Amino acid sequence: MVSVWDTLTHRWGDPVRPDPHTTLRGCTRCGLCRVSRHENAEYWVEYERPDGVRVGEDGIPPRCPGRLVDA
Ligand SMILES: [Zn+2]
Repeated sequence: MVSVWDTLTHRWGDPVRPDPHTTLRGCTRCGLCRVSRHENAEYWVEYERPDGVRVGEDGIPPRCPGRLVDA
């Protein structure tokens, strides 16, 4: 049984680290990219759509639209 929570949350794939300060994880469902950044003493998270548009606020992503990738 799939819970409501399951349908709203992204399923992050394996992390990729293009540089020591950045970790990327793509959602296997919708392709949204979670970008974690570490610089000096700061740490924050951004989200980008596959077309490069930044989305979400204050580290909170928009909810996952679901099966765009699986279809
Ligand atoms: Zn997603």
